[in-house]
Amino acid sequence: MKGKDFKIIIPRRELQKKIKELGKRISEDYSGKEPILIGILKGSFIFLADLIRVIKVPHEVDFMAVASYGQEIEGSGVVKLIKDLNINIEGKDVIIIEDIVDTGLTLNFIKKNLLLRNPRSLEIAALLDRKERRKVQMHLKYVGFTVPNEFVVGYGLDLAERYRNLPYIAKIEGSKLAQRRFEL
Ligand code: 5GP
Repeated sequence: MKGKDFKIIIPRRELQKKIKELGKRISEDYSGKEPILIGILKGSFIFLADLIRVIKVPHEVDFMAVASYGQEIEGSGVVKLIKDLNINIEGKDVIIIEDIVDTGLTLNFIKKNLLLRNPRSLEIAALLDRKERRKVQMHLKYVGFTVPNEFVVGYGLDLAERYRNLPYIAKIEGSKLAQRRFEL
């Protein structure tokens, strides 16, 4: 890929192994229950697709999409809802499925929004956790991997809508777009 340096940091096999473990834990923790898994678009769709295929308990799937209000105030925590759920989650056990938790601002907005709908329980499953940059502390019940302070792509995560199809997680160097996020 021209002008960019991709380095695989989590290979496909490790992703699959970890997702199997997460699926097993979720199946045990939700035994006798029927959780609703909410994928946060777009980054979580591949993680969610692989995760539900290793979850043994009956469950429902729905999606939400959010966006930050413009580049100039990125990191301010101002988030807008682009796509809402179709399912009513009142009284239900809900698991938010997220690709990566960075500052935590996006997830904080989503969590608050969902709690207003009175689910019975609300937990978070994140494939990647970049703890270093966290601004809002929150409990992540299920985490795949902790990643360093570098922009990553692949396995659902994009750079300007590209590279979501890579079957691994790679860090990307030499990209101004990727760097911009970390210069805030
Ligand atoms: P937060 O609100 O926690 O700062 O950001 C969370 C969202 O920012 C993630 O859902 C993801 O869409 C995006 N994001 C954060 N870090 C990265 C990264 O390294 N790569 C990509 N592709 N997206 C990221």
